[in-house]
Amino acid sequence: MWPLLRYKQELMPRTLDPDQKRAIAARVNYYRELGIHDFYRRAAVGEIEPTTEQMEEMEEHAAREDARREFINEEFDRDFDRRSEEDELKKKSIDPVAALKVIREDIGDCTRCKLHGQGRKQIVFGVGNPAADLMFVGEGPGADEDEQGEPFVGRAGQLLNKMIEAMGIKREDVYIANVVKCRPPANRTPERDETETCSPFLFHQIEVIKPKAIVALGAVAAKSLLGINDTMGNMRGQWYDFRGTKLRVTYHPAFLLRDPRQKGEAWKDLQEVMKYLGLKTSR
Ligand code: URA
Repeated sequence: MWPLLRYKQELMPRTLDPDQKRAIAARVNYYRELGIHDFYRRAAVGEIEPTTEQMEEMEEHAAREDARREFINEEFDRDFDRRSEEDELKKKSIDPVAALKVIREDIGDCTRCKLHGQGRKQIVFGVGNPAADLMFVGEGPGADEDEQGEPFVGRAGQLLNKMIEAMGIKREDVYIANVVKCRPPANRTPERDETETCSPFLFHQIEVIKPKAIVALGAVAAKSLLGINDTMGNMRGQWYDFRGTKLRVTYHPAFLLRDPRQKGEAWKDLQEVMKYLGLKTSR
């Protein structure tokens, strides 16, 4: 630095005019209210170079300030998440009957996947208690369901009814739905693009009904809900979490009609569900 400049600087008055002082004080207060307490000023032209120690101190200050800002940002994010959760809770207090109606209307006369053009008569949305503690999820409607517009009303449905009764509850107490809402031709297994297109509606139904437990009937339901690709043998016998709801996998009633020896195994699965729901398991 030129000696003359430094000389001039040292002679310069260090007092500010009162208006300027007041304006700066007001601004400093404003920043304090925002939680900002440290201030830095840019080096003025001709200012004396800071020492290494001063530089280190400034860097430390800057690091602390970065950490503080990061903390404030994280707090902001946490607050945002809290608010989103509150919004979610508000949403959850919506009348489930009305909310299910909205989902049904959203499906409309669906043409989103190829099943709509393969002989289905109607969309089979779901049936039961809109505030059920227990929800059963099957694969897709068969001929009887397609005819009547209600899930599990055919032979597999009769067996499901017996399973529900054996649990000490009634069909009307639970909610029953399928992964796909349209009957696949000749009762074939729904294909991946079909389950992927239709399952968001099932997920919305679950979101609205908020059951305490879900029973996935068969591999298609289990895989669609859990997003995993495993055998029934591996998927049974344990609890899963479906978006915060307990989920158990058991055999599809249609499979139990073909292989009744597995009914005892299915009963074991249902007993676990009963225990979880606090239902009497003495049978
Ligand atoms: N099988 C299913 O998976 N769902 C029904 O609704 C009927 C049979």
